[in-house]
Amino acid sequence: MNDFTKYNFHTHTYRCKHASGTEREYIESAIRSGIKILGFADHVPCPFKEKGRVSGIRMDMAQAPEYVCTLKKLKEEYKKDIDIYIGFEAEYIPEFYPEQVEMCRQLDCDYMIMGPHFLSGEPGVLYTGVETRDTERLKAYVDSVLEGAATGHFMYIAHPDLINFTGEEKVYRSHIRRLCEGLKELDVPVEINVVGMAGNRHYPTPLFWEIAGQTGIPAVAGLDAHSIRDMENREAYGRCLELLDKNNVRLITEPEQMLLYMNRTKNVLQLDENV
Ligand SMILES: [Zn+2]
Ligand SMILES: [Zn+2]
Repeated sequence: MNDFTKYNFHTHTYRCKHASGTEREYIESAIRSGIKILGFADHVPCPFKEKGRVSGIRMDMAQAPEYVCTLKKLKEEYKKDIDIYIGFEAEYIPEFYPEQVEMCRQLDCDYMIMGPHFLSGEPGVLYTGVETRDTERLKAYVDSVLEGAATGHFMYIAHPDLINFTGEEKVYRSHIRRLCEGLKELDVPVEINVVGMAGNRHYPTPLFWEIAGQTGIPAVAGLDAHSIRDMENREAYGRCLELLDKNNVRLITEPEQMLLYMNRTKNVLQLDENV
């Protein structure tokens, strides 16, 4: 059997409307693969201000208690075979953020990861992964991720290379260096996204990982599973390892070390009075 990750904190559920498979199928697939710690981090719901607005890519606020409750039951049922944790993948969007943090507290969630898919909550706002040559957009992306990471609420940054900047390389280098150095300072690691590698998407972005390697920030593996097949992307995981090795990026492989990151963010998430 190939080398494969022993943890995954980036698992979705059907509630986000673009993932398939039952929670039970994800859990059993993870057990078969030898994963010791499985975290569910479905796309966080947004408290939209516009009446009747429903997202096509995330659950509604009203579904969150059922999501957590279903997983808590499965956590108990499978506790002899695997450790299960419950969180959300969230953008850092200041207008939504306090309510989302409050929701995590009320539901006693374990963690959040930051998935910077959008920079604001406006209807029709541009997806971060769309190609852009706009330097201001790259700067806004880096500023937003660093500002969110500074809250201490995020265990790590999912696909930090989602920004699809196709302008001047030296501009990309300078902002991404600022991002990696800033995150390293905050001790927030960056995810190498296995499903992106499997799908030959624009991320993992080789230049991003070259810069990450120069700054010494550690990487976390994330399957970003939206299907059972995504739970079993061994070949793509192998290519992720090669990319990290080539750039001297250290991958956190021990599930126990990930738990330290998770518990640190859980403490801040549950206790921080400043949000
Ligand atoms: Zn998704
Ligand atoms: Zn995701």
